[in-house]
Amino acid sequence: MENDQKDFAANAYFLGPKSENGSWVRGEIQAILDHWYDWRRSLFRDDPEAISRDRRLSPEFLREREILAQELRNLLDMLRSEIPKFTPRYIGHMVSELSLPALFGHFATLLHNPNNTSREAAKVGARIESEAIAMLAKMLGFDPAEAQGHFTGGGTVANFEAVWRARYRMDHALSLGLVIAERDNELLDPFAAAHMGWRQFEVLRAEHDISDDDMRAASTVLGNPLDIARRISAASGRDYRGPVLITPGNKHFSWRKAANLLGLGEDSFWNAPLDREGRVNLAGLAQLIAAAREEARPIVCLATVAGTTEAGEIDPIDAVEDMLDVLRDEGVHIWHHVDAAYGGFFCSMLGGEAAESLDAKRRAALGAIGRAQSITIDPHKLGYVPYSCGAFITKNKQAYQASTFQAPYIDRADADDKWRCTLEGSRSGAGAAAVWLTGKTLGFDADRFGVLVAAGIKARKTFQESVVKSNALVRPLAPADTNILCFSLARQGDTLSAANARTIDAYAKFQASPEFSVSKTVLLAKSYDALINAHVESYDGVRDADELALLRCVFMNPFWADPAVSAHLTAQFAATLAGLTS
Ligand SMILES: *Cc1c(COP(=O)(O)O)cnc(C)c1O
Repeated sequence: MENDQKDFAANAYFLGPKSENGSWVRGEIQAILDHWYDWRRSLFRDDPEAISRDRRLSPEFLREREILAQELRNLLDMLRSEIPKFTPRYIGHMVSELSLPALFGHFATLLHNPNNTSREAAKVGARIESEAIAMLAKMLGFDPAEAQGHFTGGGTVANFEAVWRARYRMDHALSLGLVIAERDNELLDPFAAAHMGWRQFEVLRAEHDISDDDMRAASTVLGNPLDIARRISAASGRDYRGPVLITPGNKHFSWRKAANLLGLGEDSFWNAPLDREGRVNLAGLAQLIAAAREEARPIVCLATVAGTTEAGEIDPIDAVEDMLDVLRDEGVHIWHHVDAAYGGFFCSMLGGEAAESLDAKRRAALGAIGRAQSITIDPHKLGYVPYSCGAFITKNKQAYQASTFQAPYIDRADADDKWRCTLEGSRSGAGAAAVWLTGKTLGFDADRFGVLVAAGIKARKTFQESVVKSNALVRPLAPADTNILCFSLARQGDTLSAANARTIDAYAKFQASPEFSVSKTVLLAKSYDALINAHVESYDGVRDADELALLRCVFMNPFWADPAVSAHLTAQFAATLAGLTS
């Protein structure tokens, strides 16, 4: 380790690849068990013991205990063959060593088994959840006093939560517009109506004295969508073709699932083009918004990505927000959701020295996340928290409570009971507690957690330099915004198809070898055409294929920050790669 106080993050907050912190971790796990036993013993002291000593010593009991012990050993034996994700040699997917606060928080809470769906099932769990959400909200740039959210099974469900609410918001506004247009015999502009925004919604509703019943009768969600569509067509004087969902071409697969669940066909799932660096192209995005306006098709929601699943790239979220602000000034309010499932934790670096590991544009992009309506973040990725733990957070209550037909401006008495506002029903409290304890100890600040994630970016850079130096075939995908390195294996002047074949072959060999776990990603020209061209140009290659195969290395493991570990493993990786490609 560098002789630097900052190394506390890796050294004190992880078990270590050789279980270096094993003895005090054992003590803490023991303390959790002691607490659990004591808690039981301390409550209802006058109740009789249920399992007597005689029973515990009976042959039947001992036989059952033996069976359980044996099968538990079998389970542990099976788990020995699980993929070792704790080691710095694991640079495959977006997961690595779990942090100790996350493990302790998760384990302690698991034993109490709160169901965060309601305060009735989680008195303490629900409070921990609110505090943990506030910690994440603050890190992401939301006002923690205003922000609302909850933990989900993962980023996929968190993205669904956004679309679910955005669809409701659109429906509220569009129904109001429809009722007014029909009543006053005015021409309806479905796009303008759907994007009127909450303030205008309230003004118009009061002005025209529209009742709940009238609105319900004009709602696509509550009524028959085909009937309502016919009414919208009649009121607008043109065929209503329904809403669209706009995501960038670098989106995660969960967005396609979201569109599908919403009943949107491929025709309504619009993908904004990407630039030569794989981030959303602003002009292309503006064109899609203009096209939706032109075709009078409301935009359910517009998503951008902070930390793409393929390469960890960060979309220009600040520029997208600037563009949306201009539209807001015109009275067009589009719901912007930032899918920061992977990259959200990079926000912990902002405001400190750690942020220097990002370029200025990426810092500005991350700094603008708090301007969006809602955010997805996955503690079970870069948060070092066990599965399953995603989170969905909105900027304010209004956006959060838009998940029912009930008017969102009514501050419901049961607002603390989240089950009405969540897609999932029963939810574990373990993930929330894992995040809570991480926030209370490691802390999501620039000089704490920020140091940890910055070390991953630095490790990626160092690794990239030395692998490029040691192997002439290595062609890094540029840029690499964060801690993910993607590269193909190409000779100067190669065809793309030959490079793809070599890269995929190397991946298969990596998989067959226990040395390093890397992953593979394939970028399709349909989304990444410009980036694929730029990549092939980097080795003066011939573009003869519509996809680009890449090896992908994710530098999350905290021990890559240790120069000795890093030097040892980089040399080993170079040797392994040389063996695979010779
Ligand atoms: C991983 C990921 C998701 C999906 O999250 P899960 O936790 O796997 O459901 C969504 N978006 C992005 C950008 C991701 O990286």
